[in-house]
Amino acid sequence: MIPGLFSCHEHITLDSVAEHVPDAEVGVVFALRAVKECSRFLQNGVTTVRDAGSRGAANIQIKKGLQEGLFSVPDLVVPGHRISRTGFTKWRVCLEADGPENLRKAVRQERKRGAEFIKLMVSDVLSGQGTPYDPQYSFDEIRAAVEEAHELGLKIGVHAYGGEGATRAIRAGVDSIEHGASLSDEDIEMMAENGTFYVMTYKAVFDAAADLKTPPRLRETAESMIERYHDTLCKVRKAGVRVAAGGDSHGFDPSMEATAMLRSGFTHAEALAALTVNGAALCGMPDKGVVREGFIADLVALDGDPLEDIHALGKVRGVAKKGQIIRPCEGSPEC
Ligand SMILES: [Zn+2]
Repeated sequence: MIPGLFSCHEHITLDSVAEHVPDAEVGVVFALRAVKECSRFLQNGVTTVRDAGSRGAANIQIKKGLQEGLFSVPDLVVPGHRISRTGFTKWRVCLEADGPENLRKAVRQERKRGAEFIKLMVSDVLSGQGTPYDPQYSFDEIRAAVEEAHELGLKIGVHAYGGEGATRAIRAGVDSIEHGASLSDEDIEMMAENGTFYVMTYKAVFDAAADLKTPPRLRETAESMIERYHDTLCKVRKAGVRVAAGGDSHGFDPSMEATAMLRSGFTHAEALAALTVNGAALCGMPDKGVVREGFIADLVALDGDPLEDIHALGKVRGVAKKGQIIRPCEGSPEC
C-alpha cells in the first residue's frame, strides 16, 4: 500500500499534442478529453494531477465542472493558461504577454480567472526553430511575473529545459523548474538554496527520441536531452533539490520516471517520495502524499513492494480516493 500518486505536470486537455480544435469546439472537446484523461489517471493510482496550462484556461472551467462530482477523478491543481512571449513557438495554446508591466497584468488576469498557480514559458519547446534551451523572456520580465504571483499568494512554475532561460528564472525566484533536462551546476546550487522544485518529465522526451515518426533533427535533440537528463538528475539529487514528476500529456508512467531516477543514483525511497510526498509539497497539500493517521486516505494497493521492485508502481491492484474505493482489489480479501 502506498499513498496516491502525484502527476505534477500534465495538460488534461491534450491541447499541445492532440489535433488542433477550432475555437467554437474547444469547450466540449477539451472537457471530454479531460474526463477521459482524469478517469484513466485515477484508475492507475494517480489521485492528484497538477495541470501545466491549457488553451483558453479551459482547465479552470473543467475543474469547476468536475467538482460537481459527476465523475470519479483525481484532485486537480490548475494554472489557467501558459503565459508566453508574443510569437512563442506554441503561442496558439498560450496567453501572450511581453514586458514587465504586461506580465504583471497577465498574472493578475490568471488569478482573476481562478488560477491556483502561474505557468510561464521561459525556454523554447522541443519542436522550436532553434534549440529547446533558447531563452524566451528577459530577467526583468520573469522577475515581474514572480513578484506579482508571490504578491497574490501564488506559486509560479516555469517551462524550462535549461540554458539562460532557466538560469534567469531560478535567479528570479520561481518555485519550480518544469522539465529541466539540462541544468548547470550553478542553476542547481541556486535551486537548492532557494528551495526550488524540480519537475521532471522524462517519458515525454524519451517518447520523442523513440518514436520513428519524429523528424530526425528533433529526434537527435531528444536523444542528447536524455543523456543530459540523467546527468542533471544525478546532480539535483546530490544537491538536495526536491524532485517531482509528470507525464506532460504522454501517458504518465510512474515506474518509468522512477527508473530514470534510479539510473541517476536515487534510492527506491527517494524515487517514491518524488511521486508522492514531494508532489504534495509542490501542490501545497500538506495532508496528502503520506500514509499516516490524520492524512487524507488517497491510497494505492500494488502487486509488489516498490521499495524493492520499482516496477510494482505499474502493477496497481486497487485505488481509494478520500477513503472511498475507486478500484477494488480483485480477489484479495485482505485489502
Ligand atoms: Zn507541459
